[in-house]
Amino acid sequence: MSRFFPALVIAIVSLAALSPLASSAPGAVRCGQLLDVRTGHLLKDQVIVYDADGTITAVGPTGSPLAPGGVTILDLSSATCLPGLIDVHTHLTGDPSSSGYEGLGVSVPREAITGAKNARITVHAGFTTVRNVGAGNYTDVALRDGINAGDVEGPRMFVSGPPLGITGGHCDNNLLPFEFHFKESGVADGPWAARAKVRETIKYGADLIKVCASGGVLSKGDQPGAPQYTLEELTAIAEEAHKLGRKVAAHAHGTQSIKDAIRAGIDSIEHSSLIDDEGIALAKEHGTYLVFDIYNDDFILQEGAKVGMLPESIEKEKKIGRLQRENFRHAWQSGITKMAFGTDAGVYPHGDNARQFAKMVEWGMKPIDAIQAATIKAADLIGQPDKIGAIESGHYADIIAVAGDPTSDVRILESVKFVMKGGVVVRNDFSK
Ligand SMILES: [Zn+2]
Repeated sequence: MSRFFPALVIAIVSLAALSPLASSAPGAVRCGQLLDVRTGHLLKDQVIVYDADGTITAVGPTGSPLAPGGVTILDLSSATCLPGLIDVHTHLTGDPSSSGYEGLGVSVPREAITGAKNARITVHAGFTTVRNVGAGNYTDVALRDGINAGDVEGPRMFVSGPPLGITGGHCDNNLLPFEFHFKESGVADGPWAARAKVRETIKYGADLIKVCASGGVLSKGDQPGAPQYTLEELTAIAEEAHKLGRKVAAHAHGTQSIKDAIRAGIDSIEHSSLIDDEGIALAKEHGTYLVFDIYNDDFILQEGAKVGMLPESIEKEKKIGRLQRENFRHAWQSGITKMAFGTDAGVYPHGDNARQFAKMVEWGMKPIDAIQAATIKAADLIGQPDKIGAIESGHYADIIAVAGDPTSDVRILESVKFVMKGGVVVRNDFSK
């Protein structure tokens, strides 16, 4: 087969060359205000300069000799700029309408096409990076690669591939009876089978590992509070992933599974719904990130039944949704600082990600805390603190702009008017 390899390389290269999407040129953006997300300060009249690779080379006051002669300066002098937002918990290749039995009729290629639609919606909403934690059959790997090649418009993606889970657990599919002999591709039971699954998932392109430690809401026949993987299995998964240079995100609603996942050395707890004081203390001790998806409760309770979510899922959400919000507030007030912005987009319609900011403020954060969770802290969790989440030299020119001050009204982030990713303008409503 190796003699076909050069032809394949040529095909890929020429595809990239034919890409319909714009590529970057050196340039600069002038911002009326620039939010320094590290300090929360709004800096007046700033210029951001970037090179042909779409990397920021200088940031400073307008009028300082930063921009090399001849570069085009984009005028956003009526706007407030901030770094492109990051959502660390998305499912771009899924839609709410593929919940429950409806989802059984969605093919793998169709899922990938759904992903292309949602990638575009997400980046246009101001989210220039996502961590996609769970997609069947590596549709997320294909989407990431399509975006990176310039074939599809979308955010930078860090993807997990199929999530690991126990037989019959939240990350298996329990809708069909025995005679169909169906199980999800990430199912693995026992420490060694789980290690093998980590290796397989990385082999096929995962940037990180997602594991379902406890039961969940949108799955059939399990309970969010009940443990699924054992501490022994979670420890094996974390060790194997870390050995291979990948971080691990654990879906964990239940009190015991949250603690098991933290003790296993897992990097982030997703949902975190029933965390107790011991879990909060453990997260601080281990430096584990907590991700609370506290917007989607509203969608599940109001729209879930209409889009085909199972009646048992709605019942589970009724029991857990409010507790999750209360525990978010309690964890934050208990001094947890490592909290990243993750929404479970796909459970609710993509593009509404920023609606979670207002929930985070309603439940105890200041607007700048919520913005930091979606910028510098998300970048740290993803392992890209020098590339994304801030407008600084050496970072990608991932810039968004809004009309107004998001540190006084965080809902302004629900209507992002300008998006640039890597020096390429994705949308500019200010020029209209
Ligand atoms: Zn999820």
